[in-house]
Amino acid sequence: MNQDIALQVNNLRVSYMTGNREVKAVDDVSFSLYAGERLGIVGESGSGKTTLALALMRLHKPPAYIMGGEAILNGRDLLALEREEMRQTRWSKLSLIPQGSMNSLNPVVKIKHQMADAIEAHESGWTRSQIGKRIGELLGRVGLPESVAEMYPHELSGGMKQRVCIALAIILEPSVIIADEPTSALDVVVQRVVMQTLNDVQEELNAAMIIIGHDMGLMAQSADRLAVMYAGKMVEVSPIKSFFHDPQHPYSKLLISSLPSPEEKRDLAGIPGSQPSLLELPSGCAFHPRCPIAIEQCQQAIPPLRHIRSDRRVACDLVEDQAS
Ligand code: SF4
Repeated sequence: MNQDIALQVNNLRVSYMTGNREVKAVDDVSFSLYAGERLGIVGESGSGKTTLALALMRLHKPPAYIMGGEAILNGRDLLALEREEMRQTRWSKLSLIPQGSMNSLNPVVKIKHQMADAIEAHESGWTRSQIGKRIGELLGRVGLPESVAEMYPHELSGGMKQRVCIALAIILEPSVIIADEPTSALDVVVQRVVMQTLNDVQEELNAAMIIIGHDMGLMAQSADRLAVMYAGKMVEVSPIKSFFHDPQHPYSKLLISSLPSPEEKRDLAGIPGSQPSLLELPSGCAFHPRCPIAIEQCQQAIPPLRHIRSDRRVACDLVEDQAS
């Protein structure tokens, strides 16, 4: 993996303002996304994953507000760009495959027109034949025949529609792709195929990719590193193999022990309790009411996400440093 940094996020904070209350949906999140890598982000619903993606794209809407931090792409802070500069940056340098994106295709407009609209929004001066050629190339890249251009979304299967959405996301060959639950509405076999298409496209473009999801199997198949979010914070960031073989944060350990294993028949251990409301977070470490090894001091201070090894970070005061 190339160690050049494609996107550097520092101390990002995003809050929902409800009345006079501040709900911290993304709380002091920092991470590096390396060129060409796939970073998986997992966490329960409401842990802040989608809010993080929308904030990086500057597509969040009130009552969500960016309260602080920076996101550096090509030497510029995305969060400080003027609105027009950000519009130019979206899709050309940083693109999003949003959650449920295949349902966002307009059912009464042919695929070629939807793709042409997206191209024309960013590339002025292209002739009709240049646009048609580009649409054919993009469909080919995601494994679809050119004839799909003449079809309406309702004539396509779920997997084909999702491939069209991938093609739309790579129209301008961005260096960073954010895929938010890119396969969630598909059946298991199609999920694997669509994920493979996405991985192939990312490799061809040598783009870096953030994959947001719940499915640990898909993460194991696709991601190079995994970040775990809990109650708006990142609590572990690890290379994928280290994470699955030797998870460190107590929440990560419970996530792994709740996965079925074909080699070892055992009772699946669920994670006790539920994620706390962001409106009423527990004091100190937000995981302490569910943590099997919590001690008194866990209720006092929020543990920082610290390096326990050069390539692993964990937010738990009870996890010891490891030799690099
Ligand atoms: Fe558990 Fe305490 Fe570590 Fe939080 S800081 S994960 S409560 S041991």
